[in-house]
Order: sequence, then structure tokens, then C-alpha cells
Amino acid sequence: MAEEEKKKVRRPLGHARLKPGKCIACGARCQAECKADAVEMNDKGEPVINLQKCTGCRRCLRICPAEAIEIYFTPEEQKILDELAKQKEPEKPAAPAVEPVDEAQAKLAAKLKEYKGVWVFVEQSEGIPAEVSWELLGVGAGLAKTRNVELCAVVIGDKVNNLCQDAFAYGATKAYLIDSPIFLHYRTEPYQKAVCYLINKYKPEIVLVGATGLGRDLAGAVATEMATGLTADCTGLSIDENGFLLQTRPAFGGNIMATIKTERTRPQMSTVRPHVMPMPQKNTACSGQIVQESLPLSEKDILVKVLEVIDNRKGGDVDIAGADVIVSGGRGMQGKENFKILQELADELGGVVGGSRATIEAGWLPVERQVGQTGKTVRPKIYFACGISGAIQHLVGMQDSDVIIAINRDPNAPIFEVSTYGIVGDLFQVVPGITNRIRELRNTRRNTPVTDSTICAPEAKTNGTS
Ligand code: FAD
Repeated sequence: MAEEEKKKVRRPLGHARLKPGKCIACGARCQAECKADAVEMNDKGEPVINLQKCTGCRRCLRICPAEAIEIYFTPEEQKILDELAKQKEPEKPAAPAVEPVDEAQAKLAAKLKEYKGVWVFVEQSEGIPAEVSWELLGVGAGLAKTRNVELCAVVIGDKVNNLCQDAFAYGATKAYLIDSPIFLHYRTEPYQKAVCYLINKYKPEIVLVGATGLGRDLAGAVATEMATGLTADCTGLSIDENGFLLQTRPAFGGNIMATIKTERTRPQMSTVRPHVMPMPQKNTACSGQIVQESLPLSEKDILVKVLEVIDNRKGGDVDIAGADVIVSGGRGMQGKENFKILQELADELGGVVGGSRATIEAGWLPVERQVGQTGKTVRPKIYFACGISGAIQHLVGMQDSDVIIAINRDPNAPIFEVSTYGIVGDLFQVVPGITNRIRELRNTRRNTPVTDSTICAPEAKTNGTS
């Protein structure tokens, strides 16, 4: 009888509730996941959970990227749980520990072990290497050292043998070279075939590719063919205690950083944007081994033909990603016409003008000038942020600049948290003031080269009023 009563008591499942201040308004994932129709969204994009309908199924908990939902029990439910805990039968002595032998796991582990080495794809256009390739060799060297494996370059093109030597100078100890006229211009199909051929033959555990237009195209095609994982636009790469590549990148509009692992397939593939990783030292005395390969591929097998190459660098626009000095403006510029004061400062310093997304959306600057998560990642020697609040999506694109000078009339603007020098004041006074001071310095010390410190330090007052 007592046994029967015990069985009748159902274990309460509790109800979902929102942890205050944790929701990141990810786009109503919890609502979409709820099968009981218990979740409504409020104006702020946060869930309002109907306790009458909630079944405590925990689906919303599992889908929430910010761990913003928890389960709670009413005092009555908690009482039942306590009772049930008391009634729990004494536990049987644990069975002797037997190592679970999972054949599939063992097979997988053996397969993963076949893959060794860190590879970096050396991107080039008409023989000119993309600098991001060297930046990747820099980060790849650290990964290879931790894994105690070789750092290798993959060089594909036409008459690109010299790039192997460059790769050695930036840290590679081996270069896989495929050199043929078929690879003169980048086309997805032959390049994908070439990289997949090398991967199948030499089995690297990690492949890094620059997140340029070419690199994104190639990495996606290769990962698809190899049926492996690819994490795009990584901002951090490291190795965990089990030897897996930890690939960190912003997620959900930059509100959280996600760390992604490729646990069951190889190679582990990542793309990284230019200027996200520091440039390693070049040592031309270093050398390495070149492994030359060729593919049985002829022009008639390739469907895409390159008829003409149009160089958009001749279009007159500047490459802000490669500039040493960037003078960026934000919504605080108040209009397109006001950007001339930024251009004047940029001209004095041999720099270029950039902007926040707000200025691009307002049509004040062309899209190529956008700095940030959905724009360009920059790492100049000096970055001026004029009338830019410092939203996280902007910061991820410029926070690694050597010196950041922020000018904002709001002393609490988040941009000051990453700035080297913060000037609280009206940019329409401060920016021309800096430009004039540089001109004065030039006039009085014509023969003295202007350095960062002579430009910045005397003007700047950290969070002081200009
Ligand atoms: P605001 O935030 O409006 O800041 C203007 C600042 O100007 C304020 O701090 C104000 O105090 C200051 N100011 C006004 N007048 C003056 C004055 N006279 N003197 C001095 N200071 C003054 N943004 C990017 O920049 N790049 C991106 O790549 C990007 N990607 C995004 C991706 C996603 C998915 C999302 C959701 C957003 C993205 N954003 C991006 C937008 C970002 O969230 C911000 O909205 C944007 O950066 C704000 O631009 P702002 O700082 O120019 O404008």
C-alpha cells in the first residue's frame, strides 16, 4: 500500500523563468522552441513565460545562447522533491568500474590521430601574397608548437615558388607547392581540387585561411568537400587540453563570444580576417622543405574561364585595412559635409578617413570605409575615433590599434574604455585644434620628423576636457 502511494506522487518538473538582466534578445529562439506556447516576447525582445502553460520541459533552457533561463520550483513543489529525496531507496553498491569500450569512439580516435600538422593557405593574386597569410603563419606557429607538430604553408599558383621562401621567413618549416599555369587566376574549382588533394594525401589537423573574398570562397568549398567543420572570422585560436582547436568568434551580433570545436572530423578549419592577428617577425635566413605536387587537371576540365581581371584598387578608393593612420568619424559628425575636418587631419598625418556603420548607413561614407564587425578589421598605428560611441560591433574592428585617440563629448562613452587617450569635448573644436597644432609643429620644426608622441601626447588629456 505504502509502495503504491509512493508511486502516485509525481516528480514536479518546475517552471522556466528569466534570470534578470541576462537576456540578449537573440531573436525569440526560446519562443520558437516552446512546444507549449508558453512564451511571449515583450517590446525589448525578452521572453515573458506563462506559468500556467509552461510544462517545465527545459527546451527553452537548452536553446538559450545566453543561459538566461532557469528552472524554479514553488515551495509546494520543493516540498514534494524533498519528500521524494527522503523516500529514495538506499543506493546499491556501485558495480565495479569497467572501462566502457565503445568501438565507434575508438575508431574515431584512431582516425583523428592520422591527422597531423598546422597548415596555412598562402593567398596570392598575380604572385603578390596577401599579408593575412603571414599573420596566419604567426598564429599557426603558436598552435603548432603547442601541438608539437609542423607548421606548413600551402602555396598554389603560377610561378609562385618564391612564396615558399617567404613562408619560411614567416615561420613555416615546410611548403606544399602546386605550381601550374592553370592556377594563374583564382577559380574555386581548381583551387578546391588542389587543396583537397593535398589534404587527402598529407592529412593536416588544422587548416587556416584568410577571411578575404578569395579565402572565404575557398575555405567554404574545401570544408564542404572534406565534410568537416569551418569556423569563419575567428578572433582567437588556441588549443585545449585534449588537443582540439578552440576557435573563438563573435556571435549574436557581437554580444557574446562563441568558442567552437570540431570534435569528430578533420581537418579543423578556420578563417581569420586580415589584421586580426599580429604580423610575425620576418627572418629571411630561415629555410624549409618544399614538397612539390601536381594535379592531373587540364584547362578543358574547368568550366569557369577568366576573361578579364578588373583591378578595383584602381577605382580611386583607399584600403583602410592597410593604413597606418585612420581618422574615423561616427554619427557625431552630424553630416557628410563635416567629414572635411577629418580629411584635413588625415592628410596632415598621411592617413585615411574611416567611419562607423552609422555613417555608412547615413550615406556619408562609402561602404569600403566601414570599420567593425560587418566592415573592416583595422590595426593602424594611430586610430582616431571622432564622435563614435564605441558599440561592441565597432570595437571588435579597431581595438587592436597601437594608439587609440577618442574624441567624444560624452565622458561615459564606451569608446573611452579602449582608448589610449580620451578627449572629452566637442569634436568640431578638438579635431581642427589637433590639425592646427600639427601644422604649427611642422612649421616651427620643419626638419624634425613628426612622431606619434609629438602629435598626440601634448594634446591629449585622458578623460579631461579639451
Ligand atoms: P552613436 O552610437 O550614435 O554615437 C555617436 C557618438 O557621437 C555619441 O557617443 C555622442 O556622444 C558623440 N557625439 C555627438 N556629437 C558630438 C560632438 N559634437 N563632439 C563629440 N562627440 C559627439 N557599427 C560599426 O561601427 N561597425 C560595424 O561593423 C557594425 N556592425 C554591426 C553589426 C550588427 C549585427 C549590428 C546589430 C550592429 C552593427 N554596428 C556596427 C552598429 C553598432 O551597433 C552601432 O550602432 C554603431 O557603431 C554606432 O555608430 P556611432 O558610434 O557612430 O553612433
